[in-house]
Amino acid sequence: MSEAETHDESAETRDFIREIVADDLSAKRHETVVTRFPPEPNGYLHIGHAKSICLNFGIAEEFGGRCNLRFDDTNPAREEQEYIDAIQEDVRWLGYSWSGEPHYASDYFEQLFAWAEGLIEAGKAYVDDLSAEEIREYRGTLTEPGRNSPHRERTAAENLDLFRRMRAGEFPDGARVLRAKIDMASGNINLRDPVLYRIMHATHPRTGDAWCVYPTYDYAHGQSDAIEGVTHSLCTLEFSDHRPLYNWLIENLPVPSQPRQYEFARLNLTYNVLSKRRLIQLVEEGHVAGWDDPRLPTISGLRRRGIPPAALRDFAARIGVTKSDAVVETQVLDFCTRELLNRTALRRMAVLDPLKVVIENYPEGESEALDAVNNPEDEAAGSRTVPFSRELWIEREDFMEDPPRKFFRLAPGREVRLRYAYFLTCREAVKDADGNVVELRCTYDPATRGGNAPDGRKVKATLHWVSAPHAVPAEVRQYDHLFAAETPGAEGDYIADLNPDSLSVVAQAWLEPALGETPVGETVQFERLGYFCADPDGTPERPVFNRTVGLRDGWAKAQRQDAAAKSAAGQPAAKGKG
Ligand code: ATP
Ligand code: MG
Repeated sequence: MSEAETHDESAETRDFIREIVADDLSAKRHETVVTRFPPEPNGYLHIGHAKSICLNFGIAEEFGGRCNLRFDDTNPAREEQEYIDAIQEDVRWLGYSWSGEPHYASDYFEQLFAWAEGLIEAGKAYVDDLSAEEIREYRGTLTEPGRNSPHRERTAAENLDLFRRMRAGEFPDGARVLRAKIDMASGNINLRDPVLYRIMHATHPRTGDAWCVYPTYDYAHGQSDAIEGVTHSLCTLEFSDHRPLYNWLIENLPVPSQPRQYEFARLNLTYNVLSKRRLIQLVEEGHVAGWDDPRLPTISGLRRRGIPPAALRDFAARIGVTKSDAVVETQVLDFCTRELLNRTALRRMAVLDPLKVVIENYPEGESEALDAVNNPEDEAAGSRTVPFSRELWIEREDFMEDPPRKFFRLAPGREVRLRYAYFLTCREAVKDADGNVVELRCTYDPATRGGNAPDGRKVKATLHWVSAPHAVPAEVRQYDHLFAAETPGAEGDYIADLNPDSLSVVAQAWLEPALGETPVGETVQFERLGYFCADPDGTPERPVFNRTVGLRDGWAKAQRQDAAAKSAAGQPAAKGKG
């Protein structure tokens, strides 16, 4: 796919939400666009949230508006300061900044309560004594209308008194709720007298014990939007059925502005679960090492795995924003990651499955420094030196004693190139008592320094290597999908779909010395192996690296074939996936 197709923000490639915003601005329905990202601080953000962040903050940026960060902190039972902090860190790391200070639904509790009193006075809300169970029962079903609560016809005075006593803490949790008085026979269940307030004697991370009644999401959300002057309130499709309620509240309350809600498809990703409830379970039951386990699709997990924020933004742009649910393949994320890292990551050499090479004609105890390019895609990245000596590590799979016809790497009598170094010929494989190859005795050609033979002879393979006496030992963590099933839980319990081999640890890899200085969080390319990110668990003496993504590019290849097939058939090539 061409640059133009991928990054073009022009009108033709605008998604339907950007179309609406552009239209509203050009028709002067709003002076400026105001969006918000409204996480509930009840867990860490995941890649689905990244989609919403890129959409909300992206629109504000593109149209010169603003985007608020607003914590939807209306359920103190599940919310924590740790999450509030982590969410801010993740949004910043993704490259966005919110307008002013973060906002909190709890900032508006007093106003929301006053508006609820107003609804009661207008006969549009009432206190109900039915239990949660009974409310469900009275609500009816998709095919049957609901029934009125016996408490529905209380007077405004009685309702007001009860509502204030709810706030004063006179009643236990669940004893009473405040409900909007709309229509128990509505075809939309959300309009069958939805609950606006419930009693919860819980300490709130911000308001402490000041409140024991809390507004529901439905009641708090639109009104918070209106208070903040949000023009376009973007949420996921499951809220479509809530939109009539969102509008009812805006119409029936003296709110200072008229936000509108628009829904887009949530992100689903193969081999992943994207629901905080499930992510919490994975963390709490110890199926992963924590919220930032590199196997998790949390933003902090993706960061620790080494995926750069720009790759996530590119991912969000490629998958686009649509009105129908779809599942995106994880390879799309791999593709975006690889594409970016190919341009930006430093090249280094590391051997993960070491086999010793001894160069018999290289002087003992000597070494030299060879020039190695840092990034062939980026001249500005410069070069470094790599030490070379008589004893090296190479990758075990780069040698075969009895190679098949198409194996061009090292074998007895075979000559190959060592990257940035010399031609090397294998003379003999040394074995242990069990017949395992434990060492290769080799010779090198000093005339091939830099990688070319003056006599013009060619070799068919170039291997990476590390000088053994200079090598830095490291732990390398290689990750596979956390789930073995493409759709975890499709066949029942999603926990049963966990991939038992999602983590494999190389306890003793060998790195070129420069890698010992890789700053934590930086992702480099281990030549021929993939991209790897320095983990905070490491030390300069023994770094730890996480495999971010391999080098193989199966998805891009499939895309190219797809595009080629389509253009051969006279159709435009597909734009991204998802
Ligand atoms: P979860 O289902 O994972 O618990 P949530 O919707 O309850 O997520 P919120 O904190 O309420 O989490 O979400 C904040 C914002 O992010 C909301 O606007 C929500 O619509 C959006 N969002 C959440 N999950 C996704 C997703 N998978 N794809 C796109 N947007 C999402
Ligand atoms: Mg939610």
